[in-house]
Amino acid sequence: MNDNLPGGMYARLGVRPVVNAAATLTAVGGSLMSPEVLEAMAQAASTHVDMYELHAAAGRRIAELSRNDAAYVTSGCAAAIVLAVLGCITQGDPRKITLMPDGAGLPTEVVMHCSHRIPYDPAIALAGAKVVQVGNAVQTFEWELEAALTERTAAVLYVAGSHLGTAALDLATTVRIAHARDVPVIVDAAAQLPPYTNLWELTRKHGADLALFSGGKALHGPQASGFMVGRADLVAAAAANGSPHQRLARALKAGKEEIVGLLRALELYLDRDHDADRARWEGVVEQWVADLDGVEGLQARRVFPNEAGQPVPRVRVEVDPSRLHATATDLADQLWDGTPRVMVLRDGTDAFYLTPDTLTEEQEHIVVERIVATARGMAPRPAEAVDT
Ligand SMILES: *Cc1c(COP(=O)(O)O)cnc(C)c1O
Repeated sequence: MNDNLPGGMYARLGVRPVVNAAATLTAVGGSLMSPEVLEAMAQAASTHVDMYELHAAAGRRIAELSRNDAAYVTSGCAAAIVLAVLGCITQGDPRKITLMPDGAGLPTEVVMHCSHRIPYDPAIALAGAKVVQVGNAVQTFEWELEAALTERTAAVLYVAGSHLGTAALDLATTVRIAHARDVPVIVDAAAQLPPYTNLWELTRKHGADLALFSGGKALHGPQASGFMVGRADLVAAAAANGSPHQRLARALKAGKEEIVGLLRALELYLDRDHDADRARWEGVVEQWVADLDGVEGLQARRVFPNEAGQPVPRVRVEVDPSRLHATATDLADQLWDGTPRVMVLRDGTDAFYLTPDTLTEEQEHIVVERIVATARGMAPRPAEAVDT
């Protein structure tokens, strides 16, 4: 692969492209957009439009596609947290909206399970709210959640994903307790696609009032996009705090290009043959294990589900430093410094993960070639073991 690809601006800036075998990480640009999504964004960029009308129309279409009552496009899932919390605090009341972020006299507490505290939750503070934590890293009792819900509570923020373990109450229990006090439940489901059924099940089946998703992860939409789905009154209340209005969350504007690109990405995602995707990933993982397991100093095996609890298979590559005379960290560093630059997901100094869902078919091969070549370059080679 030509390291100057995709040419143009990155090359002129001296910024090196990354082959992302790690995950849909924002730090390496999330995911890649298809030509269809890029075309939709180019169309959107080429004409002015009434942004109120576009937001409303795209929201209706996304609601229909996701089988929800309403939807609103944001500039990411973290932005959706800010907007959802602002919506719950202000209920869309114009006077209350102007009180933010001070929120004097308004309910500005957001209840979260301790085990759900994530690096993205400062978005709550950005909305002028503060976190009230329930439970601990090991367990949560129903009475703890009940006791935390008061007239100061704006919402419960629930972080979805099987990777978070069992220290929190389950979503259905959380919803039951919160709804008994008329408190809405917002679900952060940023990386909870796949499965695509989460688009409607978190709200329709589990009863969440709002569910929030990233557009730039598995949806392969614009990196700076996300959306919320759920209760029409809360979606409208959230939207009243955001662009194109000149309010607090105007700072989190989604442009016409993001709105249209996200919608197109969602259409394409729902049209996909998800079983075929899964079969393709399994095939790649099987091939990676076959190619990597047994390379001097490496052990490779399939793991499931992935780092965000999604039903995507991955490969865990363990490095035996006594045979490679290097750690997994050294190998990952060399892959990052190599050409092309390859990013893997590090797991301490012993191992790293590879995921198939962020790669093109060409890149699937590049990743394995780079790992084999790099590992062979590191391993001591007794004369009888030389095989290349
Ligand atoms: C990625 C992620 C976010 C942030 O989403 P963006 O679309 O990048 O703003 C929030 N919460 C969780 C759990 C995430 O995984």
